[in-house]
Amino acid sequence: MPDQAPIIIIGTGLAGYNLGKEFRKIDRETPLVYITADDGRSYSKPMLSTGFTKEKSADDLAMADADTMAQQLKASVRTMTQVTAIDAVKQEIAIGNENIAYSKLVLAVGAKCIEASLQGNAVEDVYSINDLMEYARFRQAIEEKKKIFIIGAGLIGCEYANDLSNGGYDVESVEPLSTVLATLLPEAASHAVQSALETEKNVKFHFNTVAKAVNKRDDGYEITLADGQKKQADAVLSAIGVRANTALAETAGLTLNRGIVANRQLQTSDPNIYALGDCAEVDGQLLYYVMPLMTCARTLAKTLSGTPTPVAYGPMPVAVKVPVCPVQVSPAPRDVEGNWEIEQDGHSVKALFRDKSGQLRGFALTGERVSEKMALQKELPPILA
Ligand SMILES: Cc1cc2nc3c(=O)[nH]c(=O)nc-3n(C[C@H](O)[C@H](O)[C@H](O)COP(=O)(O)OP(=O)(O)OC[C@H]3O[C@@H](n4cnc5c(N)ncnc54)[C@H](O)[C@@H]3O)c2cc1C
Repeated sequence: MPDQAPIIIIGTGLAGYNLGKEFRKIDRETPLVYITADDGRSYSKPMLSTGFTKEKSADDLAMADADTMAQQLKASVRTMTQVTAIDAVKQEIAIGNENIAYSKLVLAVGAKCIEASLQGNAVEDVYSINDLMEYARFRQAIEEKKKIFIIGAGLIGCEYANDLSNGGYDVESVEPLSTVLATLLPEAASHAVQSALETEKNVKFHFNTVAKAVNKRDDGYEITLADGQKKQADAVLSAIGVRANTALAETAGLTLNRGIVANRQLQTSDPNIYALGDCAEVDGQLLYYVMPLMTCARTLAKTLSGTPTPVAYGPMPVAVKVPVCPVQVSPAPRDVEGNWEIEQDGHSVKALFRDKSGQLRGFALTGERVSEKMALQKELPPILA
């Protein structure tokens, strides 16, 4: 019976929709069913942290609604629907008491924002933005407001700091480490970005401490830091990172590690269930970026249409969208010993990470040096050969 059942894709983010697009290039007939907890609009998530800079509202960022996507992909798209469990033996998903059979199931359920550990009477009012609907709510809440406090100065925190500042907001931010983007960049590059945000965008950072409590006041919110300082803001945004969403996979008894464990064919520990995008740990690699999920979508489309195809990743540098001091980074692998070579001129940094044999294994470029990305990328070994 499940062989006649549709392929079900859970999630309509970049992973889910790009898989459908790639699959329909090969197979126009096999029934495809999407189920998503959100409104199913197609949008590019990286654009969320550029809304003010590009002068685009949440609605402007939506490229197509769920009905349009359903037509384009010859699929059905069921929106605002939370899948609650998976029975891998019966090959069924559950939506509350309703069960739906699948022939193959794809988990494209993304990652969840890590919640800051906070006290106070306004914890529920702290925003985190992980989809277009949350972005729309945040934009509406800060209309006519002035001051935004951001918890976290990593990739997403810095992007929002620059973007909100471009939108005319006063931005203040707290970060437990000693500089911005500290887990992604060598110190010289981090300091270049930090200095540009401070001097040119007037962002005020508090390093080496965390937000401890958020309380409501008559005129906004009071944020108490662990070092005792108290800060005021009109809205608080938490951006302290994401973690693969493994909750549904757990109900199916799938093997989990930091994400849903998948092999090079994106197949999980159950042969009929695949994982793709931010939720998937593919051959040990858990990469919360667009390029890997696009590569995976292309190969998984082939696998699902009958040609089992393993994925390979080339080098995949990431742009950090801090226009005041652009960044291109290919992080140094954690398990490789080596040294950074740094050249710096003001906010422009070229940092190369070489292993003991002299092979380039990572780089960080800021300011005017980002133009060297393509040349350096060619020197890097692939992430998954
Ligand atoms: C502000 C921001 C900026 C970024 N900038 C960049 C960038 O510049 N470059 C880059 O490479 N990457 C960037 N990223 C990361 C990139 O956007 C993500 O890697 C990518 O969008 C993940 O797509 P996804 O489809 O895997 O997950 P998501 O977009 O999170 O989609 C998950 C889907 O699963 C659905 N879902 C989850 N659980 C259930 C359930 N139980 N039942 C039904 N549906 C469910 C959700 O409703 C959603 O539709 C950025 C991320 C953010 C937040």
